[in-house]
Amino acid sequence: MVYPWGTSRRFNAWSNYIKGRFGHRVQKVAIDAGFSCPNRDGTLGTGGCTYCDNNAFSPSYCTSSQSISSQVEKGMAFHRKRYKSATRFIAYFQSYSNTYAPLEVLKERYAQALAFKDVAGLAVGTRPDTLEPETLDYLARLSEKYFITLELGIESCYDKTLNRINRGHTFDTTRKALEEAASRGLDTAGHMIFGLPGESKTEMLNQAEILSQLPLNSLKMHQLQLIQGTRMLEDYKKNPKDFLRFSYEDYKTFVVEFLERLSPDIRIERMAGEAPPDYVFGERWNLRNDQILAGIEQKLQQENTWQSKKYKKFVFLDRMNW
Ligand code: SF4
Repeated sequence: MVYPWGTSRRFNAWSNYIKGRFGHRVQKVAIDAGFSCPNRDGTLGTGGCTYCDNNAFSPSYCTSSQSISSQVEKGMAFHRKRYKSATRFIAYFQSYSNTYAPLEVLKERYAQALAFKDVAGLAVGTRPDTLEPETLDYLARLSEKYFITLELGIESCYDKTLNRINRGHTFDTTRKALEEAASRGLDTAGHMIFGLPGESKTEMLNQAEILSQLPLNSLKMHQLQLIQGTRMLEDYKKNPKDFLRFSYEDYKTFVVEFLERLSPDIRIERMAGEAPPDYVFGERWNLRNDQILAGIEQKLQQENTWQSKKYKKFVFLDRMNW
C-alpha cells in the first residue's frame, strides 16, 4: 500500500522526503555556534528550562570552543566515515537559541557553515520567542538558495506544563512564531517531549490533534529523560507520581497511537532518542535510535495501522483549554 506521503512506510518519514528532494542521503552536522539563551542569560531567567543540559545531546565535535568551520569540517568527516553515502550535509545549529543575536551576527555565523560547497542548507534550532521579523525575513531570503528549516522547541502544547518546566513562553507564542515563519514560506519543524510532569497520557495524545492544526512541516519527538544535575530530576525525586515514565514497550504503544491521530502532512524526523549513559538518571532502554525506530515500525505493522489513520481534519479545539 502506498500512503498519502507517497511511500509504503507507515509514517511520513523526513528521511524519505530528504532523499526525494535531494536524490540521495543528506546528513545533519550538529554545531554549537556559541549562542546563548534568554532563559539562561538573565533576560527571561537564569535557570533555564528545568530539563536543560545541551551537552547531553551534542556529539563530541560540537563545541563552541571550536570555530563553526572546524565543527562543520569535523562533522562532515565523521559522517562520511560512518555512512559512505553521505555526500551532502545540513548544518544543524543545534545548541541553545540560534536566532538569539543581532542579525549581523547571525548572518556571519550562518555564512561560515554555508561557505562549504557540500553544505546544502541550515537547520536552525531556537525558541519561539527569539525570532525578530528581520531574522525571519533573512532566513526566508536564504531559503531561496539553500534548504532552510526553522526548528522550534515546542515541548508541550499546554501552558500549565510550559510553566512548570520554566520554558518562559506560552504555547500561543509557539503558534504565532510558526505562523510568522510559514507566512514567509519557511520550512518549519517542531520538537516535542513526552512524559513531562503533570501530563496524562490522554493529554499527551491530544497534542497530535493540536499540532496537526499548526503550519508545521516536520516533527521530532523524544521521551523525557531525566538528566543528572537538572532541576527536572530534583522535581522527579520530590514528585515521582507526577511523571509518566515510559518503558520502551509503553512508548511504542504511545507513539503508534500518537501517529494515528497526526496529520499525514507532518513529516517525522525523530521518534525517540537516548542520551549517553553517564547523563541519564534511572534505567535506560539501551537501544540505538535505529533500533527504536525499527521497533515502532514493526508495531505499526503488527497493528496494521499508520500515521493519520484516525486523524480528523476538522477537529474543533477550545483554545482556552490548551
Ligand atoms: S530554551 Fe533551550 S537552551 Fe534555553 S534553557 Fe531551554 S532547553 Fe536550554
